[in-house]
Amino acid sequence: MKGAKPVIAIDGPAGVGKSSVGKAVALRYDLSFLSTGEMYRCLGWKVLDMGINLDDEDKVFEAAKNIKWSFERASDNSLKVFVDGVYLGGKLFSDKVGQAASKASASARARAVVTQKQIEIGRAGAIVMEGRDIGTVICPGAQVKIFLTATAEERAKRRFLQLKQNGKTADYEQLLSSIKARDERDSSRAVAPLKPASDAVIIDTSDMTLRQVTDKVLEISSPYAS
Ligand code: C5P
Repeated sequence: MKGAKPVIAIDGPAGVGKSSVGKAVALRYDLSFLSTGEMYRCLGWKVLDMGINLDDEDKVFEAAKNIKWSFERASDNSLKVFVDGVYLGGKLFSDKVGQAASKASASARARAVVTQKQIEIGRAGAIVMEGRDIGTVICPGAQVKIFLTATAEERAKRRFLQLKQNGKTADYEQLLSSIKARDERDSSRAVAPLKPASDAVIIDTSDMTLRQVTDKVLEISSPYAS
């Protein structure tokens, strides 16, 4: 059953823990890890930086088309995403950039450009990829497809605690409404909406710890990756 270069697809809504689980699985099985949302965050950042109106589809598409992507595997196996040779890192994780990413990613032509790059990466295999459409569009042939869910309230609570732990200020109600706004936009867009692949294993993580979710995904992936 073990594939030489398996693909493990992890999809789900914002703040459900896809990156934490995906990184742990990638490390355990010595696979690369890519957060595809980071690429949309790079696009959102670039659009904001260029002062482009997010509703201007032509300009958003131009910005997407002109990005030169490169990737570097870090010591935790994750692929660091470079835009035109620059690593944006922490700049990508503000709520403003998250909302911009969500808006830019709903633009069909811009999305097609980013999708193409992600398909290429998926084809090379030996990777855990997390996002919204990995199992449905990017890697429909992935050996393992996981779809993580949790209530919006639980996800907002986790984000709130995480921010607090990192010494940052956080407003639960604001986090909740931001998560709900992104859920709504990501699920209702015409192209590649957030939804589980028909053959995905759906895991409701609402009452599970990160460790329990990781163990479950490791167990499901084991025949293909260990
Ligand atoms: O996963 P993350 O929250 O970093 O993603 C930021 C935004 O990028 C999401 O809200 C979503 O709109 C978009 N995205 C997407 N398809 C993916 C990954 C992310 O549309 N595969």
